[in-house]
Amino acid sequence: MVSLPLIREGMRMHSRDRVFSGVRSITGGFYMVKKIAVLPGDGIGPEIMEQALRVLEKVDQKFSPGIETEEAMIGGAAIDDEGKALPESTIELCRNSDSILLGAVGGPKWEVLPPDEQPERAALLPMRKIFALYANFRPAMVFKALAGASPLKERVLGGGFDILFIRELTGGIYFGQPEGREGSGAEENGFDTMRYSRREVERIARIAFEAAMKRDKKLVSVDKANVLSCSVLWREVVNGMAARYPEVELSHLYVDAAAMKIVTDPRSFDVVLTGNMFGDILSDEASVLTGSLGMLPSASLADGAFGLYEPIHGSAPDIAGLGIANPTAQILSLAMMFRYSFGMVEAADAVERAIQETIEAGIRTGDIMGDGCVEVSTAGFGDEVLKRL
Ligand code: NAD
Repeated sequence: MVSLPLIREGMRMHSRDRVFSGVRSITGGFYMVKKIAVLPGDGIGPEIMEQALRVLEKVDQKFSPGIETEEAMIGGAAIDDEGKALPESTIELCRNSDSILLGAVGGPKWEVLPPDEQPERAALLPMRKIFALYANFRPAMVFKALAGASPLKERVLGGGFDILFIRELTGGIYFGQPEGREGSGAEENGFDTMRYSRREVERIARIAFEAAMKRDKKLVSVDKANVLSCSVLWREVVNGMAARYPEVELSHLYVDAAAMKIVTDPRSFDVVLTGNMFGDILSDEASVLTGSLGMLPSASLADGAFGLYEPIHGSAPDIAGLGIANPTAQILSLAMMFRYSFGMVEAADAVERAIQETIEAGIRTGDIMGDGCVEVSTAGFGDEVLKRL
């Protein structure tokens, strides 16, 4: 069974006063003891994970969900310790867990390795494939109190925006075969294959239509159907599915037009459906418009309730070890896990509210500082969230 997106009540994010909505799994309904595989990774990963685990401990006291955690290495740390970015022991732990909470991987130290051995390529891409994490949910919304941190002009930003990107994660050009290099000299070629099956498009499109049904019922499907055969099939399948969702207003945008519209009219979007590469680029573009990369969580879901939850940002080596990283995205990733994998809606609401109240109280890490606000460290921000939880 597939995770279906449902509306979430309670968290009001901006002055349009629209309820921010997302997804949660409805496949379980019955949640036993849960085990989380905790993979802090590299750079700021361990620092922000520490704050998320403090929040988890508090949730455990307050809501008694009976959650166990076990930590394992991934990324550069795993290369240094075990010679591989994704050791077997880490895969095994994830297999024996109900969900994965990941920090971030990578850093300059490992960028000298051959591309196939570098942390992102050798750890994150295989994880998606091994655990069939095909549906990536990335909310991009502006916290009202942080509207000033957005690079967009006030007249474009208006009361803020709230876009839910649904990106296909296990197909497309990042995984299509053949890929590689051949030939030599001036005739040497590098090549990748963009490929989607009807089945792959159908399953992600269905998730996107379901998500739209629970939000503003507006779905934009992004492709490059004027050039790519793969996109022609994509558009055909999405159009075919529209008949089952007559209430959803479906439109299509070429990826270049979508990239422009995200900066010129972000408020026109509700749910955006994309393939793997287009979603990678567009959701990053939208995320910087929200003010700071440090704010945004993500979920990558498989069929059923299993998911991998991680901040959208990387390991931020430029600030690692300074104790100044913003732990919000990591803590919100945990909240997404409560909601989507464990059905713990009350706990998820409580954590998200605590974050929002902390930010509204003017307590900020350096990346989101504003006039009249108080700057705190990573741990200091964690303290303030715990106080409000
Ligand atoms: P990045 O997201 O790590 O950092 C970009 C900028 O945002 C930096 O200035 C950083 O200090 C800042 N930033 C990011 N998260 C922050 C936070 N929580 N609080 C405050 N500031 C924050 O991207 P990058 O610099 O391009 O990549 C650094 C490394 O991370 C690279 O090795 C890259 O391959 C890797 N990476 C990993 C992931 C992942 O693990 N999912 C994703 C992207 C990049």
